[in-house]
Amino acid sequence: MKLDTKAMRYLTAEDWRVLTAVEMGSKNHELVPTPLIAQISGLRGGTGVHKCISNLAKVGLIAKVKNAKYDGYRLTYGGLDYLALNTHRKQKSVYSVGNQIGVGKESDIYVVADESGTQRVLKIHRLGRISFRTVKANRDYLRNRSSGSWMYMSRLAAMKEFAFMSVLRDNGFPVPKPIAQSRHTIVMSLIDAFPLRQISSIPEPALLYSELIDMILRLARHGLIHGDFNEFNILVEEEPSSTGAATSTSKNVSDEPSILPVDTQFADASSNISPSSVTLVPTLIDFPQMLSIDHANAEFYFDRDVSCIKRFFERRFHFSSDEPGPFFSDVKKTMGKDSKRLDIEVEATGFSKKMAKELEVYMREVGVDGDTETEDAPEGDRDDNEPPSADEAEIEDIVDEQLQQADVAGEATEPAIVDTMENL
Ligand code: ADP
Ligand code: MG
Repeated sequence: MKLDTKAMRYLTAEDWRVLTAVEMGSKNHELVPTPLIAQISGLRGGTGVHKCISNLAKVGLIAKVKNAKYDGYRLTYGGLDYLALNTHRKQKSVYSVGNQIGVGKESDIYVVADESGTQRVLKIHRLGRISFRTVKANRDYLRNRSSGSWMYMSRLAAMKEFAFMSVLRDNGFPVPKPIAQSRHTIVMSLIDAFPLRQISSIPEPALLYSELIDMILRLARHGLIHGDFNEFNILVEEEPSSTGAATSTSKNVSDEPSILPVDTQFADASSNISPSSVTLVPTLIDFPQMLSIDHANAEFYFDRDVSCIKRFFERRFHFSSDEPGPFFSDVKKTMGKDSKRLDIEVEATGFSKKMAKELEVYMREVGVDGDTETEDAPEGDRDDNEPPSADEAEIEDIVDEQLQQADVAGEATEPAIVDTMENL
């Protein structure tokens, strides 16, 4: 879904009031009746409110819906995007919007910039937009719920991601810097790096491997499991080592670029940084599915995180560790010792257990399972009454349509090249 910010500049203060009124009205109305919009916006009398409604509908920020009882309007994803962007603009966290750099199943990623031109990343959560596992079930599910549920759930996903990113960052984990959250969106620092998925070779896989396994273990000691720890969600930066000598993380003694991207179109970008010695710095992203080590299926997700990394290093770098594990049982023993429980700290940020549960149930019902290749969900995570999955073809059609709309061809492309920043 493309984020078209053009109409933003032409909206009047009254249009914004009316858009906000539709948002407020949709908290307890599936369709917000026109008189209620007028009432909430405080723009009663005259044709003012009708003009605003028609302006907003024309640019697709609200949509008219006819229903048996009454006609009304609902907020569209576009409308919600505008409200969130307007908040980011007012708070000065976003000044301009650039290229889309990622389109996931449940999110869109854009490069944005602040007033000084510093680039950042805007992640827009779009839960319920699509379910790969059970498209039909998803539709029925959504049809039976209030139309506000996708909005609410996307907001919960953004809140959760922001809460975890903040707590992780405060505790020294290598994650992007969380900058702002509004509704279903978050703004974070841009990591100028390739996802591990796009890297074809590295000089010393063992070093990066052990660093990643250490990260999984460190998370677990703090009471957390990432739940989608894989090559899509690890960005690897190549930093010149300041001394030129061997570094703790990794080094490259030749003059060749230390990491080689899979796709040749990235070769130039990568080979730009080819000092004689570099450090590979991993950054972890994508947190909506994080879980506590006390979760009923913690062991399944812990093992899956570990095996994703093992499998990827074997397939891509032909590296396998001599050491077995790590195993969940070992982790449980050391947990909490000398490390505070961050799962508990997250709750203190306002992202409550109740919200976590609501989001988890929804994500499970609509089949959200991160970027990890589908494997059987653990016992208790599957609903035996689940309707059969939609046809592959149907899923492909929906994805194609979305990619076309998003105007991007791949999962993720090189970040940081922004030629068309659109000021808000
Ligand atoms: P999804 O939930 O859709 O998988 P992610 O948070 O994993 O969303 O982001 C998708 C892609 O967008 C990533 O694989 C990465 O290429 C890019 N991306 C996300 N966040 C950042 C960031 N802070 N800096 C640079 N690239 C990012
Ligand atoms: Mg991801």
